Amino acid sequence: MTSWPIIIDGVEVGAASGGVYERRHPATGELVGVFPDGGAEDARRAVQAARRAFDDGRWRDTTGAERAGVLHRLADRLRDRGDAYRTWESRQVGIPAGQIGWLASYCADVVDFFAGAARTHAGRSLWTSPSTLGFTVPEPVGVVVAITPWNFPLVLTIWKVAAALAAGCTLVVKPASQTPITVIELARDLLDCGLPPGVCNVVTGSGAVVGEALVTDPDVDKVAFTGSTATGARVMAAAARSITRVSLELGGKSPLIVLPDASPTVAVDAALECFVNAGQQCNVPSRLILVGDGHDVLDALVGRVGRLRVGADDDADVGPLVDEGHHGRVVGLLREAIDEGARVLVGGPKPAPFVAPTVLDGVDEDRRIVREEVFGPVLVVQRAKDLDHAIELANAGDYGLAAGIATGDLDAALVAARRLRAGTVWINTWNRTYPELPTGGFGASGLGRELGLEGLDAYLEPKTVQVEPARRAS
Ligand code: NDP
Repeated sequence: MTSWPIIIDGVEVGAASGGVYERRHPATGELVGVFPDGGAEDARRAVQAARRAFDDGRWRDTTGAERAGVLHRLADRLRDRGDAYRTWESRQVGIPAGQIGWLASYCADVVDFFAGAARTHAGRSLWTSPSTLGFTVPEPVGVVVAITPWNFPLVLTIWKVAAALAAGCTLVVKPASQTPITVIELARDLLDCGLPPGVCNVVTGSGAVVGEALVTDPDVDKVAFTGSTATGARVMAAAARSITRVSLELGGKSPLIVLPDASPTVAVDAALECFVNAGQQCNVPSRLILVGDGHDVLDALVGRVGRLRVGADDDADVGPLVDEGHHGRVVGLLREAIDEGARVLVGGPKPAPFVAPTVLDGVDEDRRIVREEVFGPVLVVQRAKDLDHAIELANAGDYGLAAGIATGDLDAALVAARRLRAGTVWINTWNRTYPELPTGGFGASGLGRELGLEGLDAYLEPKTVQVEPARRAS
């Protein structure tokens, strides 16, 4: 299969303009897929379909058990079709298939979690006076636009879609232009699992056209966005015009603090998470803050990074960057850092689309490579004289997505966890996510949380009801 459709109201269609675009594998150039080049008209039709599907109650008025039924069937289907999803994801993103063996089972687990949550979310009740009962009822927020990036398309879409459906919302999803396949397949699977038509629509096309049309559509109640901080700010400004609710999962520049008593193995295992998906992941530890000389950790790290295998095959450790434009940006930042005096301990630029996993030392704190998200396999070493200094360095900058600390001293770790300005703090580990626990960022890393019961709340509005039972009787 090489062609995929837009899905509106349960029907597979092309773009209204008839236009299409293609995606090629970033390393091999092989054709991965051809997709409708959607426009404002397609976006409008999809929102209208989602609006009708919300307003007529075909999904909102189902029971939690019915919504859970559809979601559990979807989870089973994801597990059954795990190999297909993994192949599509690997080909469209470029990530070696061997790195995403967990994809379907993880996504299915998230869907099962929200299926359970669909049956449990409840409000509060209290007697606000001796004769007045007040209670809250969580109501679905309405029509949701979900806009997702290219680095982990299925995972980042499922975080939104599963929670929104569990809450009783309807959706229009706009996947990243480069990587729509698994999102379209997800929408197809949802229909096969009994989701009514119009509840989950997908429109492919560019962010500048389809994305803008969706976030400015007055019939949209909420925009759930994952992507860069710059685009997130733009989305928020556009949504402000009609007070559309917004949640944002944005970039990061996450610090890993290594104390002198850390196990080198634990510290190095955590630091190596910087190179997952060639560093194209929002929450990678892209800054290594060493307290003390840190020689043993750094030597061990450089040795292991040097043994990572770069390539496009299924077993490679570090795959290609998503496209030539992104490769140019990453290499540009790397070259700038080297020109400014950074020492390359291992790695460095390679011809497109690859960048060798790179560790840089000797960089001034105010340089772009220390402050800006690279979204590539580049780790910068920073030095701190003690834990206070390390926390100060960690909290410097605009982002606050994740942080970590490697140490044998749990007291120090918990003190640090309290003081680090980050949505997630990992102690002696990195990159574990569980559906039960919320994820999201402080500062420029975003607004709101995904996953966990907080992730469900993001798609609910509490309605307050007050009743005075005695008045009816008197
Ligand atoms: P972008 O912000 O460029 O794009 C994200 C999505 O927004 C894409 O679907 C894109 O469409 C769309 N878009 C672009 N412009 C607009 C617009 N004006 N209005 C509405 N939608 C628009 O990010 P990338 O795709 O480059 O993704 C990488 C970024 O995502 C990184 O900064 C990373 O940190 C962040 N990210 C954050 C995560 C988190 O949980 N915090 C998780 C993963 C990534 P199109 O593809 O057509 O341009």
